[in-house]
Amino acid sequence: MDLGIAGRRAIVCAASKGLGRGCAMSLAREGVAVTIAARTPGPLEQTADDIRTATGSQVTTVCADVTTEAGREALLASCPDPDILVNNAGGPPPGNFRDWDRDDWMAALNANMLTPIELIKRTVDGMIERRFGRIVNITSGAVKAPIPILGLSNGARSGLTGFIAGLARETVQHNVTINNLLPGIFDTDRLVGIIQGAVEAQGITVDQARAARRATIPAGRFGDPEEFGEACAYLCSRQAGFMTGQNVLIDGGAYPGTY
Ligand code: NAP
Repeated sequence: MDLGIAGRRAIVCAASKGLGRGCAMSLAREGVAVTIAARTPGPLEQTADDIRTATGSQVTTVCADVTTEAGREALLASCPDPDILVNNAGGPPPGNFRDWDRDDWMAALNANMLTPIELIKRTVDGMIERRFGRIVNITSGAVKAPIPILGLSNGARSGLTGFIAGLARETVQHNVTINNLLPGIFDTDRLVGIIQGAVEAQGITVDQARAARRATIPAGRFGDPEEFGEACAYLCSRQAGFMTGQNVLIDGGAYPGTY
């Protein structure tokens, strides 16, 4: 299917690795000019080269922390009027809420709620004027099925989800949609870190830790960031203009509920 977005411009946050990279690659494959951001220059430039080689699309890099005002300024200076915005940042650390102070909560809220809202605020009115916009927020399956040790993530991402539920109904009349993509367990660097944590905490091998996690997924495997990117590209397509305010799970069937 031709997604009808060739020639559009996209900002993809936190995109040198993992899910963000998957989204940038899929959008570029559709002929979208992508501006990708991450904090570490080496992997960012490598990913930009990989995307250019694989797709032939224009790729611009912005080495920036999107959770800072300066980082967002740099990103928007590079791509001031995007048609597509993919919001993403690193996830908060796990832990026990008794150990978290106000600064821990503010950091999680800043990264996973206020940063996407700020980037939407800075770009959505231009999209409305141009009568085309697609915004995708990478959140987490934890929004629908909270993970107890990820309380910072459960809380901050739920705040974003509530805000988006309202805004998405205001912008859709202008052909500007806003949806959330909820990853289950994907095989990215973040998973490597989580597996390493389980190895150290439980005294098991990496293979055992991976097998235990895999066993929680009805698909019997981890997600591939490429699959995530393809779903993101569909949400950004011309055809998806009637789909807004949704929380789309991509988790290999892990969420057990009917709805
Ligand atoms: P990942 O493989 O570790 O990649 C994270 C990417 O984000 C890297 O490119 C990283 O580059 C960049 N990044 C992190 N913080 C940034 C910041 N402040 N500013 C700019 N770039 C930043 O992680 P992932 O698995 O793709 O996860 C992406 C998001 O999905 C996270 O919020 C994660 O919690 C959430 N999630 C992931 C899964 C999963 O299974 N993978 C499941 C549920 C939710 P630099 O470090 O160089 O900046």
